[in-house]
Amino acid sequence: MKRFVLVEQLLKERGIRLTSQRSLVVRRAVSHLHFTAEELVEDVRRMDPTVARGTVYRALALLHEAGILEKHDFWYGPPYYEVTFGKAHHDHLMCMQCGEIIEFQEPRWERLQDEVVKRYGYQLLSHTHKLYGLCPACRRLTPKQAPKHPPLHVEEVVA
Ligand SMILES: [Zn+2]
Ligand SMILES: [Zn+2]
Repeated sequence: MKRFVLVEQLLKERGIRLTSQRSLVVRRAVSHLHFTAEELVEDVRRMDPTVARGTVYRALALLHEAGILEKHDFWYGPPYYEVTFGKAHHDHLMCMQCGEIIEFQEPRWERLQDEVVKRYGYQLLSHTHKLYGLCPACRRLTPKQAPKHPPLHVEEVVA
C-alpha cells in the first residue's frame, strides 16, 4: 500500500482530490502490473459495483496527465496501462498468444541507443522496446506456429 500513499500524496500536491470512488480506482490501478481499462473496470466493480465505467476512465486520464500512469499500445489487444510512478525504467516482452507481458531491463540496449541518438545529435527523451513472441507455455501448445488471427486492436469505449 506504500506506493498508493505516495501516489495519493503526489496528486494532493498537484491539487487533485480523490473522491472515495476515484481513490478505489487508483488503489486498484497501483496494485496491478499491466492492465487494460476494462480489466480495471471489472476489478473495481468487484469491490464496489456502483462505480461507473466513466469514473474509471476519467481516473485513468487523470493519472496519465499527472505522469503517474503510462499507456502502452501493443500490437495485440487493447492498450495496456501501467502505474510507472516509482518504478525503474524497463521494456516489455509480450506473448502473442496468451497476452502475457514480461518486464525486462537490458543495459546493453540502453547504451546502444545512446550511441545512435548521439550520432544524430539528438537528446534522448524517451523510448520503448516491445518484443513479441510466444511464451514457453504457448510454444508447447502451438509448436513453431504463430497465431493466424491475432485479436484486433480494440478501440477504447468511454461510457
Ligand atoms: Zn503465451
Ligand atoms: Zn511494465
